[in-house]
Amino acid sequence: MTEKMLKFVSLEKKMPTKRAADTRRQDFDEIYDEFDNDRATEQASRCSQCGIPYCQVHCPVQNNIPDWLMMTAAGRLEEAYEVSQATNNFPEICGRICPQDRLCEGSCVIEKGFESVTIGAVEKYITDTAWEKGWVKPTVPSVEREQTVGIIGAGPGGLAAADQMRKMGYQVHVYDRYDRVGGLMIYGIPSFKLEKEVVEKRAKLLKDSGVTFHLNFEVGREATLTDLRAKHDAVIIATGVYKSRDISVPGSGLDGIVPALEYLTASNRKGLGDSVPAFENGTLNASGKNVVVIGGGDTAMDCVRTAVRQGAKSVKCLYRRDRKNMPGSLREVGNAEEEGVEFVWLSAPKAFLGDGRITGVKAIDMHLGIADSTGRQVPVEIEGSEHDIPCDLAIKALGFDAEDIPQLFDEPGLEVSRWGTVSVNFKTSMTNLEGVFGIGDIVRGASLVVWAIRDGRDAAESVHRYLAEKLISEQTELAS
Ligand code: FAD
Ligand code: SF4
Ligand code: SF4
Repeated sequence: MTEKMLKFVSLEKKMPTKRAADTRRQDFDEIYDEFDNDRATEQASRCSQCGIPYCQVHCPVQNNIPDWLMMTAAGRLEEAYEVSQATNNFPEICGRICPQDRLCEGSCVIEKGFESVTIGAVEKYITDTAWEKGWVKPTVPSVEREQTVGIIGAGPGGLAAADQMRKMGYQVHVYDRYDRVGGLMIYGIPSFKLEKEVVEKRAKLLKDSGVTFHLNFEVGREATLTDLRAKHDAVIIATGVYKSRDISVPGSGLDGIVPALEYLTASNRKGLGDSVPAFENGTLNASGKNVVVIGGGDTAMDCVRTAVRQGAKSVKCLYRRDRKNMPGSLREVGNAEEEGVEFVWLSAPKAFLGDGRITGVKAIDMHLGIADSTGRQVPVEIEGSEHDIPCDLAIKALGFDAEDIPQLFDEPGLEVSRWGTVSVNFKTSMTNLEGVFGIGDIVRGASLVVWAIRDGRDAAESVHRYLAEKLISEQTELAS
């Protein structure tokens, strides 16, 4: 086995080929080509098969990375797929969109001196191949149980929980206010990072496995949480965070200033073939415009790169800290720069300019001052450094907070944190309401797909324990 591995000394790290920036600016297709078998085998063989694999420790779902790399290097792809899917419900999705530089690859021990193994690309290759070869099959549980679970939210957290619960034989119902399955994977994250077909295939597989989806079903409107608790033996809240943070500077009410998620959802819906009046009338379309995106996270990166593809005249990203201190993935910043986005670091909006409609942004330069209690340096304005940037479309990408779930769900007794996120017992994922569990962004605050998957898997285990105990106590009651 060792002959096939440990090749990092002689073989360079190679990512899958990236399409040329000029070509990828023209469409919304994914920017990386698939590895071919030789390249995947070769790259997997660079792994040094560490005794304590830090890649695995820092992967939120604790993927058994060294094993599936070794199997890929040995040409045992079907086994690699079995091992990979045992810990991750959607490996081909994580392989595409996890910020690997901050997780598995960033922790790979050969990173120091030799550049990490290309873990994400191999993970994607294994599962894409599994789909092609027909190894990915609907679940057929070994037992069918009568107990039912209601899951609110068809994002990655809700879907991972649904998959796990279904494998255990429970009757699973997923409710979502959107008309499609996938949550932010379908309406937030653009296709150039994650093609919609990849998510749609997973949705179909879950349907074929017996999961029932209730779409266009908003909990709080179609039913209250109490209704769902009466209907199901357990309920999982997986609703994500959707309240966009706002900015309050002079001119904030001008036309042409839009929240990031509205903008991205319109673009994703267009790509899926929907009619989107706000896109067609130009409100949510960057074509021919000078675009300014405000923010430095992954959402901001997705907005700037979407605007480029829509044919914007110019695209600038205004961020109040510098490149080193931005929250978004540096790999994505590099991709955006290649595609023609201009980053205006250490710069924040002071006012939006215009009469009725936006014509510009008054920005001010910042410097990084002393660190606050979180350890991050606080941006401070540089007096007299204001300057105007022409702008016909400003996109606010300043992050998301939780909606008021107790009020929305008509359940004032549901405990939330001071940030409005649903409070859970971290050992059991259960909220303060018996039989009601919480997972994903609505518990953590805006996070990552892979963490939502992890939460969904952990909660499924807890719900299983809870339902088994419930069944025993019901049976004991009946017998006595
Ligand atoms: P969501 O994906 O938000 O799903 C929640 C679902 O609940 C939605 O479908 C919603 O319609 C439904 N819902 C909400 N309220 C109700 C209700 N009352 N009744 C019924 N249904 C309801 N993460 C990464 O790992 N990599 C990335 O590259 C990445 N890029 C991102 C880009 C953007 C633009 C955004 C916004 C986020 C990105 N993320 C990324 C973060 C990631 O998408 C989220 O962390 C993840 O989707 C959270 O999963 P979730 O299941 O908790 O919630
Ligand atoms: Fe890396 Fe994400 Fe895959 Fe884990 S799930 S191995 S962090 S790409
Ligand atoms: Fe292989 Fe890197 Fe993981 Fe070590 S840390 S097992 S070299 S991928």
